[in-house]
Amino acid sequence: MWHPFTQMAEWDPLVIERGDGNFLVDTKGRRYLDGVASLWCNVHGHRHPRLDRALRDQLDRIAHSTFLGLTHEPGIRLGQALVDAAPAGLTRVFYSDSGSTAVEIALKQSFQYWQLRGRKTKQRFLRLGDAYHGDTLGAVGVGGIELFHRVFGPLLVQSLAIPSPADTDATAALVRLDAELATRADEIAAFVLEPLVQGAAGMLVHPPGFLREVATRCRAHDVHLIVDEVATGFGRTGTLFACEREQVSPDFLCLAKGIAAGYLPLAATLSTEEIYAAFLGRRAELKQFFHGHTFTANPLACAVGLESLLLLREETLPRAIRLLSSFEQALVRVRAVPGVRAVRSCGFMVGIEVESRVDRFVGAEVCRRARDHGVMLRPLGDVVVWMPPLSLSASELDLLETATSRAIEETLR
Ligand code: PLP
Repeated sequence: MWHPFTQMAEWDPLVIERGDGNFLVDTKGRRYLDGVASLWCNVHGHRHPRLDRALRDQLDRIAHSTFLGLTHEPGIRLGQALVDAAPAGLTRVFYSDSGSTAVEIALKQSFQYWQLRGRKTKQRFLRLGDAYHGDTLGAVGVGGIELFHRVFGPLLVQSLAIPSPADTDATAALVRLDAELATRADEIAAFVLEPLVQGAAGMLVHPPGFLREVATRCRAHDVHLIVDEVATGFGRTGTLFACEREQVSPDFLCLAKGIAAGYLPLAATLSTEEIYAAFLGRRAELKQFFHGHTFTANPLACAVGLESLLLLREETLPRAIRLLSSFEQALVRVRAVPGVRAVRSCGFMVGIEVESRVDRFVGAEVCRRARDHGVMLRPLGDVVVWMPPLSLSASELDLLETATSRAIEETLR
């Protein structure tokens, strides 16, 4: 085995055997609260009866048939449900199977749109400082995390960047955006960003109103807005989509992770009727979007995705919203733990920044110790992240808080 984002020479294996609600259970029977929702995916807890049933029902029909030239009911029904749930104007759904592919598709569709419309110079992409949009080369090209991306520099189509408003302030970032748009709008196809909070960058929270300001400026300069809700989507920030919070309807919306509740890989890139229409024509005109993945719109994944969206709106999100004030109070207490430098949060996305030490990977050590207290966490450098299942209960929140606080105290003692 060769594990992702893992130094294999120092890896300490832990084998997960099953899931039980919001817990993971290893082969020795030890239970861990899934504090990072199996990397943002697990929305309702593991083995939810409604999702298990949706999957089994679909299994009785068909596990997979291609979406290239064919269609199927789960794909159609989920597509309609996504359009109904998404910000107004996003009427077309292009499926794929990961967050990276959802972003690649938005970049390529935006690029080809401008080519088809005769705006041939619009070939570049604008992004934020510290951006993360996935690990395939197109997505890395609009990434800005030095540690992950620097080594691949020579392979990439370089993007233009403005500072993250979390690193400077919103006004300074917008002044840079204005300058780029004033001089280069004819070269820029799209601006890609995570709305409200940059997850992999260490949960960098943007000031309120920033997304709305960006959207207005992009529209005024004929630059597409690609909103990457791979992490923020499906209730993570306390609303179904983060865009809703600022009444923004982007040109492209990238969805993955929570879309199929962690059951199967699935992603979707939503776009507008105007973009879709540019690709229409006679076959011989060769205007179609030449892109597709083997498992695009896998029927099992779509069937679970549809049930998950219903469950989220009916039960899980309203319950999570009721827990939010207790969740925020827990964060105030974690902030007071000695050695915690900052706590940044947006809904159920949290970054706990711990004092760094020159000779140690403090974040990784905190996560290792948290396991001993029954909680599975992940580090991003010196930041320990929480993004628990939205089905988290009050007692599980207590466990998350006490295990994290103890792990920090033990690490820095
Ligand atoms: N975009 C964002 C905002 C992400 O957080 C991630 C993954 O963490 C991705 C894209 C890439 O998703 P995937 O790992 O499914 O390719």
